[in-house]
Amino acid sequence: MTPTMIATLTILTAIVVYGLLCWVAPFGKHHRCRGTGVRRTLLLRRMTTCRGCKGSGRKRRWGRAAYAQLRQIAHDAARAKAARERQP
Ligand SMILES: [Zn+2]
Repeated sequence: MTPTMIATLTILTAIVVYGLLCWVAPFGKHHRCRGTGVRRTLLLRRMTTCRGCKGSGRKRRWGRAAYAQLRQIAHDAARAKAARERQP
């Protein structure tokens, strides 16, 4: 095995593993609140709901968000094509 082949296989394996992770667990911990859903304010150190995750403590993984975006684009294209074909 050449070093180029090893590097390519490593990258492809990482992509497949991340894809499986996004499929099995599409949501991860929100990094700002560390999955708790609450944060301390900067000045008074009061506990408040995390604005990034709206208190859920979870955030959609970027791979899952990209997949959802691509599905939405394909869905919109199919609807536009169907609407074009429907008109005389
Ligand atoms: Zn959060």
